[in-house]
Amino acid sequence: MRFFQWLVSQAFPPKCMFCGKVIDPDETLGFSRVCAACSERFIGRSGDATFPCKLPAASFLVAPLSYAEQPVASALRAYKFYHKKVYGIAFGEIVAKTIWQNKDLFAYLRFFDVMVCVPISAQRRNERGYNQSEIAGRSAAKLLQIPFDPAVLKKIRHTKRQSSFRSLPERAANIEGAYAVQKDVKDRKVILFDDIYTTGATVNECSKVLLNAGAKIVVAVCIAVNRSFEKEPEYFQQDSDGEIPENSLE
Ligand SMILES: [Zn+2]
Repeated sequence: MRFFQWLVSQAFPPKCMFCGKVIDPDETLGFSRVCAACSERFIGRSGDATFPCKLPAASFLVAPLSYAEQPVASALRAYKFYHKKVYGIAFGEIVAKTIWQNKDLFAYLRFFDVMVCVPISAQRRNERGYNQSEIAGRSAAKLLQIPFDPAVLKKIRHTKRQSSFRSLPERAANIEGAYAVQKDVKDRKVILFDDIYTTGATVNECSKVLLNAGAKIVVAVCIAVNRSFEKEPEYFQQDSDGEIPENSLE
């Protein structure tokens, strides 16, 4: 470590983005912005971070965190709505390391052709200054050594916030026809990155346009799943036990 970086780390020791405690470098479980205790408590490991889903398009979902838990939800909200842009790299790291921990999953996903992210409209980008799925997705893709291309999907019309609708049909209607594929994805295996999986409407719509454009397979990877929706599974399989269904591994 260079002297200047060392000096900065002494003056501003990294704090856990969940509990706010200073991270002890000797005790970390490998996550740069999450302390060992919060890593143990909140970050999903192997099987419990993968969800078979009934999405007509995406084959299954990987999501290491639960949006229904605090302080995870607060950190995600700070990232998404309160300009904590720096959390994006840490969230990407959590996603990548969770995939690594599941050897079968990593062996399967590492040969995917490209990771893309759910785009936001130009208006939303101007308001927020960044696309939260792009920063975290780029960070995850870099660690997993999978090519990342945020320009594959484009949002072609502005939509209301999904959080202003509760039900899946309303959310699906809000974003229907809102995304377009701008690059050649024919016969490519695509990882679709999004921030929070709630009803699956956004991931499903994006997967649909990718498959319609010729993508071979689409797997959804998100930072967090809103597990309260798991109790009313619309897109999750009823016998969901966290295992990847065999038929989704081709
Ligand atoms: Zn912590």
